[in-house]
Amino acid sequence: MSHFSYRNGVLCAEDFALPNIARQFGTPTYVYSKAALLENFGAYANACKKHGRDENSALVCYSVKSNSNLAVLNLLAKQGSGFDIVSGGELLRVLAAGGEARKIIFSGVGKTRDEMRLALSHDILCFNVESTAELQRLNEVAGQTGKQAPVSLRVNPNVDAKTHPYISTGLKENKFGVAFEEALDIYRLAATLPHIRITGIDCHIGSQLLDDAPLLEALDKLIELIDRLTQEGIHIHHLDIGGGIGINYNGDQPVAVGDYLSRLFAKIDAWRVATHNNRPITVLFEPGRSIVGNAGILLTEVQFLKHSPAKNFAIVDAAMNDLMRPAMYEAWHGVQAVNQREAKAIIYDVVGPVCESGDWLARARELAIEEGDLLAILSAGAYGMTMSSNYNTRPRAAEVMVDGNQAYLIREREKVEQLFALEKLLP
Ligand SMILES: *Cc1c(COP(=O)(O)O)cnc(C)c1O
Repeated sequence: MSHFSYRNGVLCAEDFALPNIARQFGTPTYVYSKAALLENFGAYANACKKHGRDENSALVCYSVKSNSNLAVLNLLAKQGSGFDIVSGGELLRVLAAGGEARKIIFSGVGKTRDEMRLALSHDILCFNVESTAELQRLNEVAGQTGKQAPVSLRVNPNVDAKTHPYISTGLKENKFGVAFEEALDIYRLAATLPHIRITGIDCHIGSQLLDDAPLLEALDKLIELIDRLTQEGIHIHHLDIGGGIGINYNGDQPVAVGDYLSRLFAKIDAWRVATHNNRPITVLFEPGRSIVGNAGILLTEVQFLKHSPAKNFAIVDAAMNDLMRPAMYEAWHGVQAVNQREAKAIIYDVVGPVCESGDWLARARELAIEEGDLLAILSAGAYGMTMSSNYNTRPRAAEVMVDGNQAYLIREREKVEQLFALEKLLP
């Protein structure tokens, strides 16, 4: 049923028995490949191994927000993955999926006291702290709970990730992290706080990076800071370079994960020998998109073909509430007709039924299709389901994972009644 094989890194319609999946589970449905997920995670894990790192000296902390389905998290947890979370909800999700708290790092600029308490009670690996105010609040909350909070400071290395402004996070003007120039002082402050234990340093400069040069530049900046901190007797046990490696959406050619990690480890090893007294340092990664993005597609059915003088529209049963990336970032996703037709292809905008002009999934695509045909929206595994909503009272799509020749339902399609079950009339 499924013979998974990437075409230039993109998982295509032929990789799944999509008509069967549509018949069995309906549409719209997210479909993921277990084999692809494992291969993509393996690219990180194998590169770590190849460069002599074990579980204690390198940890891949999968970015939960890219795709947080329990089956996905469980699969990765069984591979030894750690997790990068951005909310208390994601923490509980990881634990429910069998992830280990000691491998969880907690990012995000707005952690609440409750979220801090929750994470402290589970003894997570580290809080990635993004401001002085957060550091002080964490110290206070940790004091109340009688714990010491393990902390890494998210430093803004001020390198240009050359990606979409909405997904670039490493420049001065971003809301994320602390300025490189201020980091030293904040570490000094952290060292004086009784309920804070400094363990690491981290950055995350952006997403969908095709080139690793900005990441290696960011690494240089982090290393520079670690040296300064070491001189002051502040010891950094782990270095977290963040996530951000891009995927092929539209002929993009992202750097191979193995090549990037080779260059990164080479730099780190050279530095450790030259200036770090050969002291060990654990390396953390926070990849999301590069693990799950091209391991999934969104399966949708053509409802109507609408031919107007200016344009042809393929109106499908998936919409911006299911896959927000086109509406939000003008993102490009490949579209494939599941069944090939002899008829002449014409140019369509693929749009959903939501009452917004921004509700489009793909523009100006050549397709030979008829009403009732299935389309696969490619590269939809990351920031697809996790960013979905119930706008227009649309139940969220089902999610299916293909494992060999079996397709498993990993999230039921929502039912409309569930969508207003929490609402109440006035008395
Ligand atoms: C979103 C996010 C990631 C994952 O980014 P990808 O581009 O999906 O690899 C990693 N770290 C942090 C802090 C994030 O916010």
